[in-house]
Amino acid sequence: MEPKEKILIVEDEKNIARMLQIELDKSGYETAIEKNGRRAYERIIQENYDLVLLDVMLPGMDGMEICKSVRQISDIPIIMLTALFETKDKVNGLDLGANDYVTKPFSTEEVLARIRGILKRRKEELRKEEKRLVIGSVILYPERYEARINSEVIDLTHKEFELLLYLVENKPNVLSREQIIQKVWGYDFLGYTNVVDVYISYLRTKIDDKYNEKHIQTVRGVGYKCVD
Ligand code: CA
Repeated sequence: MEPKEKILIVEDEKNIARMLQIELDKSGYETAIEKNGRRAYERIIQENYDLVLLDVMLPGMDGMEICKSVRQISDIPIIMLTALFETKDKVNGLDLGANDYVTKPFSTEEVLARIRGILKRRKEELRKEEKRLVIGSVILYPERYEARINSEVIDLTHKEFELLLYLVENKPNVLSREQIIQKVWGYDFLGYTNVVDVYISYLRTKIDDKYNEKHIQTVRGVGYKCVD
């Protein structure tokens, strides 16, 4: 299960804050409420939230100021909560880098829809930025040490992943057992080169056999290579 997304509700009106919190918790988010503007700013930059709901009129530091200051150091999604009479605030908020705004009085469904929209776009952006390598229908995410097939995570150990990564990075070239040992196990590895054969067989069991793919080939007398 993916971890809950964390949302900071910055709102000094107790009833509104509480109502938002109840609905967001119900929708599966992890929430916190902050009613002071200055403390809100500190929490946004110090704690690890996925999104901020930001009221404009706040004690300590107003929402516009918070938005402007946060934007200088962070691109965390911000949705401004503005009162109807603060029409110019909407424009200002977006100018200052808020991702969206809702006008009070709002329905929680509306706020939830905005949150879902922004978090979804954000995830897609992050996925696009993430480095990935593809071999057939297997996708490797080196930063996460994770390989997936049909979006299912393949259960690999660290060494198995490193071995697969090395082969995929070098496809379609053949890598000798010695090259693989040096790269994956390190120069001072004292074991026998047949550790490579053993690990290749693990990968074949976990990928080729299990998913009926054929990516890892033996090149007799030379070593191994990966093919799409
Ligand atoms: Ca307020």
